[in-house]
This record gives sequence, structure tokens and C-alpha cells, in this order.
Amino acid sequence: MVQINEALKIIRDQQVQVKTEIRELSDCLGYSLSKEISAPFDMPAFDNSAMDGYALCGISREFKIIGEVAAGDESRIRLREGEAARIFTGAKVPENSSAVMMQEKTTVSGNKLFLEQPPKQGQSIRKKGEELKKGEVVFEKGYTITPAGIGMIGSLGIAKVEVFKKPVIHLITTGNELVKPGIQKKEGQIYESNSYALHSACEDFGFSCKEKKQIQDDFEAIKSGIKDSLETTDILILSGGISVGDYDFVKQALEENGVQEQFYKVFQKPGKPLYFGRKENKFVFALPGNPASSLSCFYIYVLPLLYKLSGSVKKGVDRLNLPIAKDYENKSDRPSFLKANIQNGFVEILDGQGSSMIKSMALGNALVFIDATTSVKKGEDVDCYLIS
Ligand code: AMP
Ligand code: MG
Repeated sequence: MVQINEALKIIRDQQVQVKTEIRELSDCLGYSLSKEISAPFDMPAFDNSAMDGYALCGISREFKIIGEVAAGDESRIRLREGEAARIFTGAKVPENSSAVMMQEKTTVSGNKLFLEQPPKQGQSIRKKGEELKKGEVVFEKGYTITPAGIGMIGSLGIAKVEVFKKPVIHLITTGNELVKPGIQKKEGQIYESNSYALHSACEDFGFSCKEKKQIQDDFEAIKSGIKDSLETTDILILSGGISVGDYDFVKQALEENGVQEQFYKVFQKPGKPLYFGRKENKFVFALPGNPASSLSCFYIYVLPLLYKLSGSVKKGVDRLNLPIAKDYENKSDRPSFLKANIQNGFVEILDGQGSSMIKSMALGNALVFIDATTSVKKGEDVDCYLIS
């Protein structure tokens, strides 16, 4: 049995090899950069107008309009003192422009332009290089690409991006009692829900499960299911069968497949019977079958490894210290991850903390860490793991 911090450190300290690939820009969401990206040119590349209006030369309230520049035009106009050019957002400002005045604050009569106020020097001109200078690093290696990141990389004219590959994930659920939703269950059976929750949790963070298998509590079947998966996967996630019951065959099946235990059992609630192992460059998590346990173990332990295996600098779910809405006493002798809801800046610990109870997790948005036999007073800060 290990403590939570030891378990997390064991995961963090794993040596991993992550391969790279070149991907189309539009297909890079959630991938992490395998090398930094620097600006190939100044951004913006030329002084341009932030408004639809008039480019002006001089500080006055009256100008002579001498031409027009639209977005995309290769402006050849050169303004002299007292002259203006009609201009549109994003258009290159004419040479000698000292400011742009938005059209709402102007009136035009023939070729004469009148302003409500004289312009301020540089007003509404986006200066060449004001966002980025050529050669400046925009994104470091390990940056995980967001939609805005895709926009930024595109604006630099880059169409193909070198990223780390994402890990191949397999999911195996075990249990004789399990039937798939949609099928009529018999007395004593329950619906298999962990594969759905775990698969979606992977997707929520930009990962996907390549294969899902449901296996009975049969030692040979579990052993051969693990063997097959280990051939093609980077990370195998199992659910159920890792506790100490007579039908819990997962640990032995892993051992017989040559998987080496990195830790087994974590002093925590929920999720005590959590197993983490490795065989060469393949990693295995065997999560407890109870639905809330397996999903909290995913957020706290599996996700950090997924990020590591995808070359991301991210370490796990986002965390925040926030004040608790009511006094709370953790009576458990184990440090606990409690299902909670953050609303209006306060954290409420929800009813229904049992390991099998996933409703509270579904209605909440956080897991809150509270140490063993610890009382927290209303208003005191607690460590929140933001799960949605
Ligand atoms: P186990 O870890 O196999 O002893 O399972 C612990 C509890 O979780 C039992 O009540 C199981 O019925 C339940 N359980 C196990 N696997 C699943 C699953 N895939 N979906 C829903 N419940 C499960
Ligand atoms: Mg079981």
C-alpha cells in the first residue's frame, strides 16, 4: 500500500518515449508540440487599420480625402499633411498615416472629411510587430494545442505541425454481473457503465480509446485479453477484478503477462484497490470496479500519465483552492477525494459519497481532497480538482 503522493510520484517519474508525427493543422486539436514554434514574420506583418474609417495624416479636424484602401489591397497611397484615405478594418494603412478615425465619428462632404475630435497620434492603428516579433517563440515544446492555438498557428501561415503522437488506449471491463445498457438484465445483474464513463473521460481530455472489451471473471479469458491488448496498446485501463475477492483475477493475470507492479493499493478513499504496472513501454492501470472509484482514479492518476504519454506539459485536471460552503468533517481514516460542486466561488460537498455512487459525481463538477479524520470549517479553503 502506498500513500497518494507516493503513487503520484511513481507515475510522474516513469520514463516514457513518445513518438512524433506531422499532422495537418486542422487535425491538431489536443496534440502537444514536439518542438517550439516561433514567428516566421512580424505579427501584424504591416501597420493596419483597427477600424472602418479614415486614415489621416496630421492632427486636425478637417482633411481632404484622396483615395481608398480596402483589406487585402497593396496600398500605394502616400498621405501628406492634411490628407485622408478611406480605409477598412485590416487594410494596410497608407504611408505617413498618423491615425485612423472610426467612420462613426466623421462626416463627409464631397472630398472633405470632418472629425468630431482631432485624432490622437497612432489611434486605431495596429502596429507592425505589436503582437509578435519575427523569430519570437510563440509556443514552447509540450504546448497542448487549443482551438485558439490552431488559429494562432494558422495565422503564422503554418499548415503542417510536428506534434507528439497520442497514446493508444485500450479499455477492458471485467465482471460476470455486467450487461450492456439496452439489454434486459436479469436478477443479480447490473449494467456495465464504467467503460462508457472512462471512454468519455478520455475523450473529454482529447484522448480516445481504440478498443473496448468486456470480459467475464474468468482467469484465462482475462489473461488472454490482457495479452492481446498489450501487443498494440500504449496504455491499458482495466476496470474491476483488482480487489481481493475470489473472482478478482486481474492482478494475477497481469503478473502472468509479465507486467511489473509499480504500486498496488493506495491509502485513499475511494479507490483503495488501485493497481499501476508497466511492461517495457506499455502501461497498465487496473481500476476498482465501483463506478465512482474508477472514475476518480482516472482523474487523479490515469490522466497525468495520459498527458505524459502525449508529450504535454499538462500534469492533470486543473486545481483550485476554494472556500467550503459549510463545515465538513471527514470521518474516514483515509485521505479522501469527495464529490463536490463548485458554485459562486464556494464548494459544497455533496451527499452520496459511496464508492459505488456516481450520481453525485455526475451532478457535481469537482473532487475535493480532504485529509483523513479532518474537520474543515465553513470558509476555509480546500483543494479542488476540477473535473468538468
Ligand atoms: P469489483 O472491483 O470487480 O469487485 O467491482 C466492484 C463493484 O463495482 C461491484 O459492485 C461491481 O458490480 C461494480 N462494477 C464493476 N465493474 C463495473 C462496470 N464496468 N460498470 C458498473 N459497475 C461495475
Ligand atoms: Mg468484479
